[in-house]
Amino acid sequence: MLRQDYNRIDPKRRNVIDHRKKHFATPQYKDAQYPHRLNFYTQPPTAEITIEQFEQWAIDRLRVLAELEACSFRNRSQQETAAHMEPIFEKYMRIDANSSGSTKLHEQRQKDHYSHFILRLAFASTADLRQRFTRAETMLFRLRCDSDSASERNEFVSSLDLEWLEKVPDEEKTKYALELASIAGNKKGSVEEDSWFKVDWDRVPDLVQQRRVFLKAGKAYVSARDQVSMVVSEFSSRLEKQLELTARALPRLDEDDRLTPILNHLSKNFITPDSTYLSNSSAPDGAQITAANIDNLSQHFPACMSHLHRSLRRDAHLKHYGRLQYTLFLKGIGLNLEECLTFWRGAFNTITDDKFNKEYRYNVRHVYGDVGGDMNRRGGGYSPYSCQKILTEHPPGPGEAHGCPYRHFTMENLTLLLQGMGVSDKGVLQGVKEDNDRTKYHMACNRVFEHLHKNEIKKAKDEGIMTSNQLETIVHPNEYFKRSYVLKNLGRDKDVKMEE
Ligand code: SF4
Repeated sequence: MLRQDYNRIDPKRRNVIDHRKKHFATPQYKDAQYPHRLNFYTQPPTAEITIEQFEQWAIDRLRVLAELEACSFRNRSQQETAAHMEPIFEKYMRIDANSSGSTKLHEQRQKDHYSHFILRLAFASTADLRQRFTRAETMLFRLRCDSDSASERNEFVSSLDLEWLEKVPDEEKTKYALELASIAGNKKGSVEEDSWFKVDWDRVPDLVQQRRVFLKAGKAYVSARDQVSMVVSEFSSRLEKQLELTARALPRLDEDDRLTPILNHLSKNFITPDSTYLSNSSAPDGAQITAANIDNLSQHFPACMSHLHRSLRRDAHLKHYGRLQYTLFLKGIGLNLEECLTFWRGAFNTITDDKFNKEYRYNVRHVYGDVGGDMNRRGGGYSPYSCQKILTEHPPGPGEAHGCPYRHFTMENLTLLLQGMGVSDKGVLQGVKEDNDRTKYHMACNRVFEHLHKNEIKKAKDEGIMTSNQLETIVHPNEYFKRSYVLKNLGRDKDVKMEE
């Protein structure tokens, strides 16, 4: 599926691919056709794409799935989820209906097809990942089903050739008209106009339990309205089975050193979606990002950076990883190198200039790409850490203040920190505990953000100036800062804008 010009496999290695695996080495390339907006993903894609597309498409789909998971953690209803997801689909994975007249149908559907299969590879490895992937993909499929027009959805369902889904003939509809009408809550006459299907009753236990079907001779008579839930549950159970097959095929991918690192990175990403942060576009308009103003700006910091800042002020010192995590964050909010050096020098106020210059100055300059190898300097130093990196790498040891408090603190210490940040609402603290118990640390952080900014979020929504970026779940400490700063300064300063 990848173009050969991007092949990074050692040519000698490529030549010794096991003959039994030859079908992997010589795939038959062909472009798939996508007559429908919905897809059951029965055929893996075989046309060529570049490795950049491979990675980017998967990352885009991951953002969509992660946001769907976030909606489910927040108990959003189906309608709320659909409304919340609209700008996110638009940004990452727009998929138009046939009737839209869009010229990009093939392009959109190809991306949808490929990204689904790439993530299958990334998430097939463990039962937990398979389950989460199936759940998120099913949510996505259901939303798409709901937003499809009845005629396009029916065409898609007919194309599936579901042998267990039998259309109820007209004479049977007439025979059971009374029973069907009472199930549908309709008048008798309308039963004959609607489509009805019959399936083995054990395929639709939820509909049976909710008494939404008419049962006769082991068959459940399902109205067209409930057809979507049958198709969705078929999608889900097929995907579950296919993921298990994929899991068995995974070891054969090990020999491809282009894909394995990407797939590993993607699966790690499902813990918390990763995001890179562009430090050159970081300072919110109108913000005074100077050493002298950091204490004031720290009211907009997420718990991880707030804790680092408090520890630094208390101890006039931070250990190595704490300095690194915090310096990168400060760089990301737009603090320039000179100001950053001033900040650290002032903060380490119990040591001499000489000691500071010898032991700390170089590291700060290195982070900014002011010193170090060519690569570091050309790349402008390091990028600020995302939540995923902070959550999964270098857990803090005794006396260290880096890491994510939602993951690395006891609930007691976390509560004290959150109270210090202004969170005293018992419901919010209980919600944080529940998020943490489910290992959804970044969701706990988003919950706190929403609580601390609830008035501003409401105002921005009421005024219709909430952007799609502002609606996405926060997965980066610098995004937390920026969003907090912008929301808290709305209307206070003419320079502060809700930017896209
Ligand atoms: Fe910081 Fe992210 Fe943890 Fe929030 S979830 S405290 S932003 S690392």
